[in-house]
Amino acid sequence: MLALRPTCECCAKPLLPDARDAMICSFECTFCESCVLSRLQNVCPNCGGGFQFRPIRPKARLASRPASTEVHPAGVDEQQHRAFLDRYADIPPSKR
Ligand SMILES: [Zn+2]
Ligand SMILES: [Zn+2]
Repeated sequence: MLALRPTCECCAKPLLPDARDAMICSFECTFCESCVLSRLQNVCPNCGGGFQFRPIRPKARLASRPASTEVHPAGVDEQQHRAFLDRYADIPPSKR
């Protein structure tokens, strides 16, 4: 089950469970669409994978299966991410 993390792990923008701009990698590293498309260039700074939009859990299910409130630290190491971009940015996620 997805944790539905509460914030972007790059810019700390709140990402409520119904946010339409929340994106996740296969490990559920969570970022806003703006960071994914600009700074991250669809390369997860933690694992190198690509992103998909996070599905929205129906409100009726959130009562018994609430979103996580555990904030993961925000911030991307520019130098490390540059190395990831050099390696992965030109390779589609399905080929990484
Ligand atoms: Zn962001
Ligand atoms: Zn990741």
